[in-house]
Order: sequence, then C-alpha cells, then structure tokens
Amino acid sequence: MSVDAPSERPAAAPAVPAPAVPTDAEIAAAVERLRPELARLARDLHDEPEIGFEERVSVARIAALLAAHGVDAEVGAFGLDTALRAVAGSAPAGAADAGDAGAEAPASVPHFAIIAEYDALPGIGHACGHNIIAAVAVGAFLAAAPIARSRGGRLSLVGTPAEENGGGKELIIRAGGFDDVDAAGMVHPSSGSGTSSILGQRTTGVRRIAVTFHGRAAHAAGAPWLGRNALDGVVTAYQGVAQLRQHILPTDRIHGIITDGGAAPNIVPERASALFYVRSADVPALRELTDRVVAALEGAALATGTRAEIDLDPVPPYLPLQTNTALTSRWTEAFAARGHEIPPPAAPPQGGPSTDMGNVSRLVPSIHPSLGLGGPDDVFPHNAAFADLTVFPAAIDALVDAAAALAATAVAYLADPGLRAAAAAEFEASGGPSRWED
Ligand SMILES: [Zn+2]
Ligand SMILES: [Zn+2]
Repeated sequence: MSVDAPSERPAAAPAVPAPAVPTDAEIAAAVERLRPELARLARDLHDEPEIGFEERVSVARIAALLAAHGVDAEVGAFGLDTALRAVAGSAPAGAADAGDAGAEAPASVPHFAIIAEYDALPGIGHACGHNIIAAVAVGAFLAAAPIARSRGGRLSLVGTPAEENGGGKELIIRAGGFDDVDAAGMVHPSSGSGTSSILGQRTTGVRRIAVTFHGRAAHAAGAPWLGRNALDGVVTAYQGVAQLRQHILPTDRIHGIITDGGAAPNIVPERASALFYVRSADVPALRELTDRVVAALEGAALATGTRAEIDLDPVPPYLPLQTNTALTSRWTEAFAARGHEIPPPAAPPQGGPSTDMGNVSRLVPSIHPSLGLGGPDDVFPHNAAFADLTVFPAAIDALVDAAAALAATAVAYLADPGLRAAAAAEFEASGGPSRWED
C-alpha cells in the first residue's frame, strides 16, 4: 500500500531506458489476439458450472490457458484448493532481480492485482456471469504481463473462489494474500449495455445468520402435548423478521430461506433451520440490523418453547464496496475508447447486492465496474436466462473490450506515479485501509 514518487525509485534503476508505455489501442490489440481463447474459456466455464469451493475444473482451465502462454500459475494458493495466483514482473528492466512468478519484489515496486472469480450458482449455472469475470481477468493479465516484465512493476492475477457463498477474498486477505498489493481491479457483468456510472458503483455489506431451532420430538397426533415444535420456531422467526422489514432503512435488506423443516408431518420436528442474509449500506447499520434480527430469532425461541442455536457469520461478512474514482476514471476512459457509451453518473442505488470485493476495496484502492452484456434490460443476474447471455456474441465483444480496459488500467497504475498518488490520496481521504473487526 505504498505510494511511489518517481524519486523513491530504488537505487537499482534500469541501466537501459524502459520501453515506452504502450497505448490503450496497442493493449487492446493484444487482447484482441486472445479473443478466441477468452471466448472459449467463457464458454467452457458456462458449460460446466461449479459452485463455490468446488471450482476445480474451472480453475484448472484457467491455469491451462495461462500455461499455454508461458505463465506458471499456482493452483491451491493461499491455502484454498481452488484459489489461483500468477505473478508477472517485479523490478524494472535491467535491475538485478527482474523476473517472474514468485520473485521477491523490492518494496517500492507498485503491485496491481487483477481479480478473477469463477464460481457458479446452485441450479442456475453462471447466472451471475463469473465466467465472464474470469475471461476478462485472464485477458487483462496476459495483455498487461509483458509490460510489467519489461517496464518494471508487479502484476498479479488472483483467482478468488466462492464469491457467492464463501467470501473467498476475505479468506485470502486473512491468509496475507493482499499484504503486498497496492491496488486491485475486476469487472462484473450486469444487464444492459455499457458500464455503470462511477458514482453509482456501490454495494451493500452482508452478514449471514444461520439458525437451528431445537425442540422435542413427539407423535404429532398421538401425544402432541409432549412435543416442542422446532419448525414453529423457524416460522415464528421468519414472521418476526418479516415484521422488522417495515421499520428498516431503505438501504437495508433482509432475506432468508428455511433450510430444514423437519422429517415428516407425523413427527413434531425436533430440529429445524433457516439461513438469513442481512444487508446494509454501511458497517454500523449492518451491526445494528444484525442485533435486531438476532433478537427476533431469540424471541421466536421463547414464544415456541424451543432453543435457538445462532451461528453468526458462518461466512465472513462482506463489506460495502468502495470504488476508487481515480482508477475507475482510467478504466472508463479506456472502455469508452472501445466505442462504448458511458451513462452519466447517477445517484447510488439504495440497497442492492453485495460482493466480497468490498473487503478488498476497503484494504487497497479498487475498481469493480459493471459490464453490460448487451442483452435485454430485464434479464438480471441470478436469473437462469442471464447465464445464457454470457455466451452470446455481444457478451464476448463486451468481455474483450473490458479486458482491454482493465489491462490499460493496470498498466497505467504501474507506469504512472501520478495515477498511483491520486488513487492513494483518495483512498486515504476516505479513511484508509479498514477490516471487519469483531
Ligand atoms: Zn452473484
Ligand atoms: Zn457475481
């Protein structure tokens, strides 16, 4: 998380002048050459979707594509079977320790991490378009890596498992995977065409609350008075949460499912379970809302004579996304140059989904622009029809241009001390690095 002024360059400055920084058009041409392979990757991931922490075939496909371009990726990085890390560059050309994968970078070498996701949703495949995220990230990394090698700077590709259900990025943060990263970026598909506005890029924070009610089994007809109904506990809890909803902030969301409702109607359920997601726009509101939901669960146990076993944060909390405007502006400039119209800035939407990229964005300056896939506006992520959109020709066009823009952003970050300083100053002005602390 260092900011490098040119004067802070290490003494081992290049003996020969570094090659010129390529133009955005030259970077885009490099991505264009990868188009067939990126389209194939997006299609292959779509055809064989794997849910979080089970993305073995998916991550192997990504590693194979990198290997075909001479990049040795580590699968199983950060202690997670389906995480991936590849590194390009380290020191400026001519410096003694210039090299690749795993080379120790001098502390002052800027380090940009390109983030990939590749987990699917249960039952509806790549309806969140993480196959596109992966293809964009690989394309951007392969296009920008030679520049990191020749000019100096460190570029990583970080493959992060289980965005949908496991908080892979937070687990990688806890494993130290972002300790030497200075800035990060990824792109997420959305409905419609064009990127979302910079100011509109916000997500909520989310916590999960798993609850199991414990009652007493009995014959539901023969001796119901002996039973205590755990399903009643769940249903009362669900209704209690529903009654909270009228009195929460417009930016809050609470939603849940019953994950275990008993074994048979003629057995008073001894055990029943539910899983709730609680979302808010900021961390204090998220804590307060969580307390109110927990109170509703405990009240349901009291009302039904059961016991509520509450598992708070079985998955790490996701923090609200903090988009770095300086970096996103660079992305937008490069993306617009590919012929895309950029909608004018809009007021941040109220509520909405969450991402574990939020946790990364609170640690280092980050971007997470939306990428319209050119489909109908009413086909949204998390609907099965969205998975089909991700392999249409318009989606492949979008992913190629997004990869070019992400590569251009990474190259600009590594090559332009002014951009690094602007990104860092904005980040510090908004409070600097922060983590979820319990
Ligand atoms: Zn999703
Ligand atoms: Zn997603």
